[in-house]
Amino acid sequence: MAEEKKEFKAELKQVMDIIIHSLYSHREIFLRELISNACDAVDRLRFDAIQQPELTGDDADWSIRVMADKQHGTLTIADNGKGMTREEMDDNLGTIARSGTKNFLQQLKEQNAKERPELIGQFGVGFYSAFMVADQVTVLSRAAGQEAAVRWTCSGGEGYTLEDAEKSGRGTEITLHLREDAKEFLDEWRIRELIKKYSDFVAYPISLELVDEKGDSPAITNPVMNAMKAIWIRPKSELKEDDYNEFYKAISHDFQNPARVIHYAAEGTLEFKALLFLPGRRPLDFFFGDAKTGPALYIQRVQIMDHCEKLLPRYLRFVKGVVDSSDLPLNVSREMVQHSAVLAKIQKNLVSKTLSELAEMKTKNYDEYVKFFKEFGDVLKEGVHEDYANREKIADLLLFHSTTADKQDQYVTLEQYLSTLSEDRKEIYYLCGEHLAALAASPYVETFKAKGEEVLLLTSPVDEWMIDALHEYKGKTFKAVDRGEAQAGEEEQKALEQNQELFSSLLQFLKGKLDTLKEVRLSARLKNSAACLVVDEQGMSAQMERMMRKMGQDVPTAERILELNPEHPAVKAMLDLYEKDRKDERVELYGRLFYDEAVIAEGSRLEDPAAFAERINRLIAQPPTA
Ligand code: ADP
Repeated sequence: MAEEKKEFKAELKQVMDIIIHSLYSHREIFLRELISNACDAVDRLRFDAIQQPELTGDDADWSIRVMADKQHGTLTIADNGKGMTREEMDDNLGTIARSGTKNFLQQLKEQNAKERPELIGQFGVGFYSAFMVADQVTVLSRAAGQEAAVRWTCSGGEGYTLEDAEKSGRGTEITLHLREDAKEFLDEWRIRELIKKYSDFVAYPISLELVDEKGDSPAITNPVMNAMKAIWIRPKSELKEDDYNEFYKAISHDFQNPARVIHYAAEGTLEFKALLFLPGRRPLDFFFGDAKTGPALYIQRVQIMDHCEKLLPRYLRFVKGVVDSSDLPLNVSREMVQHSAVLAKIQKNLVSKTLSELAEMKTKNYDEYVKFFKEFGDVLKEGVHEDYANREKIADLLLFHSTTADKQDQYVTLEQYLSTLSEDRKEIYYLCGEHLAALAASPYVETFKAKGEEVLLLTSPVDEWMIDALHEYKGKTFKAVDRGEAQAGEEEQKALEQNQELFSSLLQFLKGKLDTLKEVRLSARLKNSAACLVVDEQGMSAQMERMMRKMGQDVPTAERILELNPEHPAVKAMLDLYEKDRKDERVELYGRLFYDEAVIAEGSRLEDPAAFAERINRLIAQPPTA
């Protein structure tokens, strides 16, 4: 096929632009990214060759070659891996296929990528990082089992060309025409330093070839630059913190060190090695839904999958790393591996290790744990639903705000909460809403605060589902303080009953006027506020209703109950007015205002703000004493 000129997709142009201009100080990572792609290509061919040995033929001498040519100013990274066909090149190198790209670009814009280059690193720039150091990139590739080769050329900017080419062996050669200011990457010492730092653990030999300014090739005394020892099979005692950190950064694209490293070998009936990392913060594309998750799966050092979702449940999808098993047979398909009983056993083991690591972090490094929880706590909470067997362990790991820990960086655990309960208390009180400060000051928690009883204040969108799923903790059930009847003490009950008589006619009158309400009643729930809205014990809470609507669900509004505080001077004033003149139009006006303030207190929006303003204005114009 003749030469084709192609345009990049619009999003890719933007990504390239950001890469070239924002990642300058981190540009050395390009070598790691290209070597990692070369290594993946070899991994993939090795895997395919298990079923189709003819793909490798007699060239199973896996290698990655780095060639630095000072005469032409080029750096080439070559592998004898799987290679790419014309279509594959077009698909892989012409677009960024991930559906999260648009969101990602939006976030970058908002957060100013230039000041925070690590943001883009979290997205994994991969191949395109080549353009940080090169003004032209050529990819020459020949797919395994094919005779034809293809050349892809791009000089940054708008597009690229694809043309037929010749190549003597299988694999891919990526040639970078280095920019003037990136010539340092042709120096032997610099290349060695980078490979040692970023790619030492790559399982295939990375060799070096040099051409000097005059076109001569000096003999190199030690051409192989990496230790080639898969880090996860090396004993812990041999490894330093830095080894782990660099490996983590290479597999995760994170610019920061991990929060925790879990490295162990399972022995006995189940044998495998695991090297897992808990990241310090959430990658940008974490919630886009299409980010690949799960550690890489190796069987006896051969990579089977770069991300095996079945190795860990969804709620631990933030964990990165590698698992290498010797119990799984090498000659099975990826699909069969995923369904094997061995994998399920490995998963169980990894979950238990990860949860105990988190528990240890919480006990021994609480501040570090809080940081971690802020990033991944909401994901962990999904486990309460997903992982019935470990529900209690997960619940132990959760942190909550409460009426006694009502600042952003203050938390209590369920265990701490229980420790403050009296023997006879059977319930854990909670209130869900959007804003911590609003919850802490809400009418629903007034009496609890006055009695010194703690209420958990839950502000994450997933909290209500999580509490529903958890249902109970160590024999205590959860009780929403904005649902059902408030419990009154003996004296409060007596006072309520007395007031009931005084108020009954007024309550009936208000119910008639506010006819969307299920009931208007007095309650012992309130201390300083005049009114609040509650739902039945079975009703859907206001917070849940708002969330379902945000998600586009058509939910009917649960019938609300308006509760009034008979001890409040404003409520008493309404009663006085009513008793003096039942026809005074201000009685209804007051009733509606109490309803309005209760709507605001529950965190909902007033349906008719103009009518609300009008009510206030009428009262200002005609004050009660007039
Ligand atoms: P990622 O590696 O995260 O998928 P990249 O942008 O680095 O993203 O690469 C895009 C794709 O191009 C890869 O998924 C792979 O299919 C292909 N590719 C890149 N480099 C090579 C290579 N050396 N050999 C074969 N395929 C490659």
